[in-house]
Amino acid sequence: MILYGKPVADALLDNAASKIDNLAGKTPKLVIITNPNDPASQVYAKNKIKACVLCGINVETIAMPENSTTQQYLNLLAKLNQDKKVTGIIVQLPIHKTADEKIVSSAINKEKDVDGFLKDSYFPPCTPAGIIHMLDFYKGKGFLAGKNAVVIGRSEIVGRPMAKLLLDRDATVTICHSKTENLKDFTKHADVIISAVGKPNFLTSDMVKPNACVIDVGINRVNGKLVGDCDFENLKDLCDITPVPGGVGPMTVATLVHRLPILYQKQLQKEAEHEK
Ligand code: NDP
Repeated sequence: MILYGKPVADALLDNAASKIDNLAGKTPKLVIITNPNDPASQVYAKNKIKACVLCGINVETIAMPENSTTQQYLNLLAKLNQDKKVTGIIVQLPIHKTADEKIVSSAINKEKDVDGFLKDSYFPPCTPAGIIHMLDFYKGKGFLAGKNAVVIGRSEIVGRPMAKLLLDRDATVTICHSKTENLKDFTKHADVIISAVGKPNFLTSDMVKPNACVIDVGINRVNGKLVGDCDFENLKDLCDITPVPGGVGPMTVATLVHRLPILYQKQLQKEAEHEK
């Protein structure tokens, strides 16, 4: 079975839109801080803007000028953190090389961290959260319990939080990375494989057991074409697999948009408590 992201993402976006309808004319606002020099980050920002507009969310993009310093980012974030009209803030990575990505990313208020990148954020990062949602949709909520899951990649925004969410669902989890020896020994026994490496044709059919479930997080460009980490053509008849594009990507965006009315209501509640 091909696990398309679009129907799952559309259902999430519909749900977000109806939550916004219930806000009686009040509208959450997302601010995306972009790096106009990075074409990939521009594409990611554009997809988020499109989905927000569809759901009736206001979006503002702020393009940081070339050579922006850490302090310039911090000044802007301090202003946005204080601004009651701003519900969520995204610093679209990568930022300008003249600023420190870690310092900048961690300066967003937890109340406005829609990406879920902060350690104490209300939410886990969007990509792994979206993948769990997708697995629930296609496989049912109890599917992961007792399954042998292999996550390839150990980044802070995909691999590590993915492993935690799988563990929270009672899967038996192995995290593999560039120093893992004999990767195939792990993947070949996995019921679920999450590939978040960023290398085309990395996961091939000889590495996967029949009827496994493969989630391809990778985004790579080959001859101008977008592809994932997996040899999709040879895997699609062997196991369940997400396509690239059209698999995990739409889920990441929809998960993010779905959080905005939730954050908005939390902020309204907090304000009301202050006023008491
Ligand atoms: P990182 O580059 O931060 O992490 C890549 C991981 O892959 C690292 O942990 C690295 O190991 C591991 N790796 C590299 N080579 C090998 C190898 N030969 N064998 C096993 N592991 C290896 O990337 P991200 O986690 O940020 O993203 C991963 C991919 O997912 C990228 O293609 C990115 O574009 C895509 N992505 C897609 C999203 C979506 O919405 N679809 C969202 C976010 C990311 P080590 O730690 O040892 O270096």
